[in-house]
Amino acid sequence: MPTTAGSTPPLSDRILMGPGPCNPYPEAVAALGRPMLGHLDPDFLAILDETNDRLRQVWQTKNRLTFPVSATGSAGMEICLVNVIEPGDPVVIGVNGVFGGRMVDVAERCGAEVIPVEAEWGQPIDPSQLLEAHPNPKLIGVVHAETSTGARTDLAELGANKGDALLLADCVTSLGGIPVEIDNWGVDLAYSGTQKCLGVAPGLAPVTVSDRARSFIVERPRSWYLDLNLISNYVDGEGARAYHHTAPISMIFSLHAGLGALLDEGLEAAWARHEACGQRLREGLVELGFTLFAAEDHRLPQLTTVEVPDGVDEAAIRSSLLRDYGIEIGGGLGAYAGKVWRIGCMGHTARLRNVELLLAALKNLL
Ligand code: PLP
Repeated sequence: MPTTAGSTPPLSDRILMGPGPCNPYPEAVAALGRPMLGHLDPDFLAILDETNDRLRQVWQTKNRLTFPVSATGSAGMEICLVNVIEPGDPVVIGVNGVFGGRMVDVAERCGAEVIPVEAEWGQPIDPSQLLEAHPNPKLIGVVHAETSTGARTDLAELGANKGDALLLADCVTSLGGIPVEIDNWGVDLAYSGTQKCLGVAPGLAPVTVSDRARSFIVERPRSWYLDLNLISNYVDGEGARAYHHTAPISMIFSLHAGLGALLDEGLEAAWARHEACGQRLREGLVELGFTLFAAEDHRLPQLTTVEVPDGVDEAAIRSSLLRDYGIEIGGGLGAYAGKVWRIGCMGHTARLRNVELLLAALKNLL
């Protein structure tokens, strides 16, 4: 059907510039079609081991317990909390958007006594407020890259001053797009998702757990599926690998290939590509008269938030972008629904040509 832009682009050409999923790397897509193997087949286990090695490189950690949980990023959040938190444990959590709020909810369901430390949406969390919120917390949890606002909260100062607390970082939107230094920064537990800057389909939650955090794992976590005592035999068994659940084989093939593409490019080159896209997008949006939303020194290159100008029908613009140009961008969440757009440049989508196309399309539509 003819449209203002000519014709509706086919679905296979969709440019995914929302907050996630992004377009996966072609290598990750191709790997989904690899012949199926059994979950205890030695050839599959070799690929799982190599995937975990690749994850260690991307997380910049030596943590032995590093693997993809068989579920989305939220399961990464749950596995990190349900294994170490016991009822009554004091837990400090930074809340500056939707995902910090979700972390509070999960921690409360584990029975934690949660002390939330809030910051305005779009602002980072002040590390000193997190460190001063409780004299002896069991865990401090924070979202490194808050996808609802596009703001980065820095982790190094927290890791350096956490004392006896465990430091938990949500790296769903950061891993692969900006530096994440688990060991250097002293992060004890971290989780991500495959669908963002790792450039793979949604469905797995890479996690990494330090040896110190492993010593906190409770004997009988309140989840069977996410019990690290049971899972670690399967994902990390040396020699005797025991069945725990049937691993999502094709997704692990895909993650293995996506991480291969990322590491072939090089982490620094991939971060620089994300940075260049974020910078050009911000510049172009400002040239078009937009106001950027997130705090200036804490803007994520992979997720730009921008205020919708007064009088603009934001849903109509997003719909035209999708129908006429085949470009998806995201709307705001919570109090910012209808007020901001969230524009992702993640994984394989983070290409300057996609940024230029979006800017040209926005210029036409406005
Ligand atoms: N944490 C952050 C920062 C996220 O952006 C998301 C998803 O967008 C999640 C957690 C939850 O991940 P999932 O939707 O894959 O379960």
